Amino acid sequence: DAPAAGKVCNRFDLGKETELRFEVEAGEAAEQVELELVTGLAEVFGSELNRNKKYVFGAGSKIAVFTWQGCTVNLYGKPEVAYVSVETPMLLYLNTHAALEQMRRQAERENERGPRVMVVGPADVGKSTVCRMLLNYAVRMGRRPTLVELDVGQSGVSVPGTVSALCIERPADVEEGFSVQAPLVYHFGSTTPGTNIKLYNKLTSTLAEVFSQRCEVDVVLVLDHERLYNELKRDLPHFVRVVLLPKSGGVVERSKECRRDTRDEKIREYFYGFRGVTFYPFSYEVRFSDVRIYKIGAPSIPDSCLPLGMSQDDTQLKLVPVTPGRDLTYHVLSVSSAEDGEEGVRKGIVESPVCGFIVVTHVDTQTQILKVLSPAPRPLPRHTLLIMDIRFMDMK
Ligand code: ADP
Repeated sequence: DAPAAGKVCNRFDLGKETELRFEVEAGEAAEQVELELVTGLAEVFGSELNRNKKYVFGAGSKIAVFTWQGCTVNLYGKPEVAYVSVETPMLLYLNTHAALEQMRRQAERENERGPRVMVVGPADVGKSTVCRMLLNYAVRMGRRPTLVELDVGQSGVSVPGTVSALCIERPADVEEGFSVQAPLVYHFGSTTPGTNIKLYNKLTSTLAEVFSQRCEVDVVLVLDHERLYNELKRDLPHFVRVVLLPKSGGVVERSKECRRDTRDEKIREYFYGFRGVTFYPFSYEVRFSDVRIYKIGAPSIPDSCLPLGMSQDDTQLKLVPVTPGRDLTYHVLSVSSAEDGEEGVRKGIVESPVCGFIVVTHVDTQTQILKVLSPAPRPLPRHTLLIMDIRFMDMK
């Protein structure tokens, strides 16, 4: 387990309640950075580090190694930045966890369900990271929290353009994050809720229903957005506790390109795996006549032009059949778990979870055949496909 020959080693002595922040250079050519805890105790976003184990972080990683008690760590390789910060909001985050744990204990005593927390705030304030820490602290206390991912742009659970839920049974792996086995995933189709807010709300309610008959949030954590905090306090029912939390100075703003790359990478991982796990996707042909492709939501038309008795809501949730053409190339398609045929349509394709994703790599309108990239060999498990705005160009 010796560090790669020739790697520079930097040692950091961290005082209690401080964190070492480092970033690995982005891009293909970037050299990985290894982290080793030498003495003391430390955690990365709520996951404890083992002593003398080398954790490897790849291109673009932005990491904070926090210690409550003090520790010494080694960094091997050349991070783009590495510095120690003594100003962190970690104590506030830990207090938030403690308050939630109180609520869980109370719920246990009263035989009720545990608290539901919604984390909101602008881009790049550390929302996902705070979720990860709170989930980690909860599992470390023996709880079984569920992560509901409503970020259709930068999902931590599935490919972009989806909302999902994941049961958390063990702390996140320091290098790889939470194990994403068997998440429940729904098709949204694009990377911002605004493209179809009706559908977004519908999916949020669908997820809520899966977890309980009615999902009311008990606590809303607002990260770094005072106006939003005030508005939510004003607008939400009184029983909801709205808490304003500062963002960590360590959270790095990501450019548009960086977000796009992250999305692309997420799709690539879905088909090809990552780190130690390599998947070998399949490429095969599908006849136009064997599948039904839909887009959810018709383009909105002025109210005055709507057919009698139809509302804008109906158009946004409408299944619009898509005739395959060349412009379908590179689009990501969700394979709906809805039963094929009328039955599926009746039960609601929109509210059915997704069983997987394929990418259209070629369309031949002459022979009426699509070529697709698929994680599993042919045939498709289901024949109802939902088109995303999101495209993926396979460069492998
Ligand atoms: P958001 O969900 O609000 O968009 P994220 O939680 O995804 O933000 O955080 C953005 C990036 O900042 C992530 O790459 C994350 O690893 C990094 N990050 C978060 N907190 C810290 C910190 N304290 N130090 C260094 N990097 C951090």
